[in-house]
Amino acid sequence: MIIVLKQNIDTKSREYQRLERHIRNSPNIELLVYDFQGTERLLTEVLLIGNTAALSIDEIRSFPGVDHVIRVSEVYRILGRHKDDTRPNNFTYNGVTFSQDNLNVFAGLCAVDSAESVEAMMKALQEHGQVCTRMGAYKPRTSPYSFQGNGKNCLPYVFELAGKYGIKVIAMEVTHESHVEEITEALEATGKPTGVMLQIGTRNTQNFELLKIVGRQLEFPVLLKRGFGITLDESLHAAEYLASEGNQKVIFGLRGMKTNIGDPHRNIVDFAHIPVVKRLTRMPVCIDPSHSVGSRSRSSDKILDIMHVTAQGVIAGANMILVDFHPDPSKALVDGPQALRLDELGPFLEDVRIVREAFEKRLALFEGLN
Ligand code: PEP
Ligand code: MN
Repeated sequence: MIIVLKQNIDTKSREYQRLERHIRNSPNIELLVYDFQGTERLLTEVLLIGNTAALSIDEIRSFPGVDHVIRVSEVYRILGRHKDDTRPNNFTYNGVTFSQDNLNVFAGLCAVDSAESVEAMMKALQEHGQVCTRMGAYKPRTSPYSFQGNGKNCLPYVFELAGKYGIKVIAMEVTHESHVEEITEALEATGKPTGVMLQIGTRNTQNFELLKIVGRQLEFPVLLKRGFGITLDESLHAAEYLASEGNQKVIFGLRGMKTNIGDPHRNIVDFAHIPVVKRLTRMPVCIDPSHSVGSRSRSSDKILDIMHVTAQGVIAGANMILVDFHPDPSKALVDGPQALRLDELGPFLEDVRIVREAFEKRLALFEGLN
């Protein structure tokens, strides 16, 4: 059961204290409290775990500090959708809204290799009206002998250049607690010219210690990628695990699944799961066409496979696209073979716009038919 308190009623209030005393009269119920500070108001949710069947929803509803009560099912208690659940499917970070109802593109470098590449990328993004990007500073690799990213040394110039070109959110993978600290410090040292979305890569989806660390901090939103060798349910539970630590600003990323059945693509594309994730949870859903396809192969119709699968994700309602670009893919230190060129950014964005418009027409077509 989740109890959503009225605006600006917090756990110190007399109303809440009365409610808590009432709940504690029933044995075997654990209370977890989550506070969300919006721009104007404080919202508090209380998650009750255990023998909640002993409580009367109507009685709890009648307490003065209570806004509404949600009887949650066993799975995905925090991020899931439940009966009479009016909790939002969106959040805003650094002026950018992430929602199950909109679409943000994060085109950028798989890995930061030089300040020149970063600047060329960000300049192109600004010219195309983009305010988000991806920039990897910490790169977990298949082989430990491969380049693992420029780490904290590149953060100051990445953040400063982002500020210069009006980039508001950078998706950046972290693999260790120290990376979150380094990002926080570098943002402060540069005067917070931009924002960061912490990315948990597919190799760390079930790294529960890392999930707890990013879930405990409330400053940065998190993009959690699906594990490439586990079930969707297991990956959604990982997201739930993260959120149960307090941070509900979570985006779920589909990036293909490891199996040779998907060859010649690097991974079998799993974008058919977009509507499933949106149905089961309140998380916006991201697609990563680059790591799914893994190459610049194109079909006889001249369209790159990466663009085809992007279109397939967008037509199914994707809310975010994470895609690799590079000013000179042949020189990229990581994943050059799958990077799009800067002269492809315009057509890529136009393709996305066309397909998103088609998706919105599909929404209108089916509205009211259920
Ligand atoms: C990435 O986005 O750079 C990346 C490594 O992705 P994944 O974790 O999906 O392999
Ligand atoms: Mn990559």
